Amino acid sequence: MTTEQKNDRGKLVVNDSECKGCGLCVEACPVKCIGISDQLNHFGYKTAQYEGARCTGCGICFMVCPEPGALTVWRLVTHHEVVVA
Ligand code: SF4
Ligand code: SF4
Repeated sequence: MTTEQKNDRGKLVVNDSECKGCGLCVEACPVKCIGISDQLNHFGYKTAQYEGARCTGCGICFMVCPEPGALTVWRLVTHHEVVVA
């Protein structure tokens, strides 16, 4: 585990079945830790992809996403993770 990963305060999980690949979350993320996958989902969309580090758990990506259920944000609280969005 790198120091960067150890200090992460959040984590993003993308539901490939719900994401339409619009890119709004990619643009909105303050730390630019979301990309677009090269792979197509079963609807033919290139979906958002968490880059695996640096998420702060701010929830901005969740707030801008137009697709309910496409994103889940986890925020690290002391030694426990809780869903915030
Ligand atoms: S919760 Fe914030 S930091 Fe984490 S992926 Fe979403 S916009 Fe980026
Ligand atoms: S904003 Fe939502 S639908 Fe658009 S790319 Fe991000 S996760 Fe997918």
